Parts: sequence; C-alpha cells; structure tokens
Amino acid sequence: MQFSDLGLSKPLLTIITEQAYATPYPIQQEAIPAILVGKDVLGIARTGSGKTASYVLPILERLQRQRALVRSSVSHRVLVLVPTRELAAQVATVFQTFGADLPRRIKTVAVFGGVSANPQMIAVRGADVLVATPGRLLDLVAQNAVKLSGIETLVLDEADKILELGFADEMKQVFDLLPGHRQTVLFSATLGDAIQDIGASVLRKPITIEI
Ligand code: AMP
Repeated sequence: MQFSDLGLSKPLLTIITEQAYATPYPIQQEAIPAILVGKDVLGIARTGSGKTASYVLPILERLQRQRALVRSSVSHRVLVLVPTRELAAQVATVFQTFGADLPRRIKTVAVFGGVSANPQMIAVRGADVLVATPGRLLDLVAQNAVKLSGIETLVLDEADKILELGFADEMKQVFDLLPGHRQTVLFSATLGDAIQDIGASVLRKPITIEI
C-alpha cells in the first residue's frame, strides 16, 4: 500500500515524499482513511509505530478541504492533548513540518507548563491547531486566551501517560469545555480499565486499531 492509496491529496503527498516517508506504516494504513472520513478512532500503539503521522496527516487534509471560516482569534479547530512538554513540542513540529507548504496556511502552537504563560498567550492567537498539556491549557482558558467551543477534532495522545501523571481531573475539565459534536481520536500504549472508561465516555462508534 502507498500513501497515495489513503485518500490524501497532492500537496500533502508531495511533502510526505520530501520527508522520505516511502510507504505508510500499518497504523497509518488503518488510521488515515478512518480519520479522514471523520470517524472516531481508538488506537493502541506505542511511540515508534508512526502514530503521530497517522493522525497529523488526515487532520491536515481535513483542514485543507474545509472552507476557510472567519473566526475569532481565540477560537481553535483542533486540540491535541499530550502528557508532557516534550511530546507537545514534538507533535507541534510534525504538524508544522507537514503543514508548511500546503495551499491553505495552518497555524500550530504548542502550549505546556514549566515556562512563562505570557508568550504562549500571544502565540496561540489565530492558531488552528493547539498541542497542549492539560494544566497549562486550562490556565489559558481561564485567562480567556483560548476558547475550546470551536474544536472540531480532539486527539488524546499517550492517554495512558496523561492518567499516569495524574492529569485525569484536568483532562475531564477539558472534555467539559469541548463541543459534544466533534471527532475524537484516542491513542494509548495500553488498554487498561481507565482508558476503556475514558474511551467509552468520549468516543462515538470508534474504529479500534491495535498494532
Ligand atoms: P512516532 O511513533 O509517531 O513517534 O514515529 C516514529 C518515527 O517514525 C518518527 O521519527 C517518524 O518521523 C517516523 N515515521 C513515521 N511514519 C513513517 C513512514 N511512513 N515512513 C518512514 N518514517 C516514518
């Protein structure tokens, strides 16, 4: 199977080739078409499986297809929740790399704790995609720098690690701020009871992919 078999359009395929991704990894073969058509996905996959591109590519494709809307500068369309600042920076870089030369400009910003909030409050303005750790995200919402009512797609990446680090309450607070009508993608390295419970509450008729 080739990337061109997955429903991605030419501009993105060009960037995929430039990044020297020759063929899609198994998780990408399954997740890309599903996310592209708007389905919810439960992915059981570890780092190294290619899970990041499996959601970044179809999300960028969907953002390209939609008509540009006139939006308020504090309203965002895609939220990726991650456990750590390192992962936030890493995932944001993947969005920026694959989104760099697309016809419709996509702005991605990482927000995470441990550094001053002020520069992030300025940086998030007009961002289509937010990649965030839960605590700092809630801080920015409390400061009215971020509004989550326009989120169309939520990704929980390394959801098991988000729970391990004690962010369950923050994660649930974030869920309460999101529109009910949205796409949700949940990635976890393991499928324990806590992850199954979260999946049951946030996913609608998900496609399960286990790599
Ligand atoms: P991840 O599991 O998302 O952390 O990705 C692991 C590594 O695999 C990253 O360095 C990616 O750039 C790389 N990668 C992901 N998908 C592909 C692919 N289809 N072909 C080659 N490298 C890839």
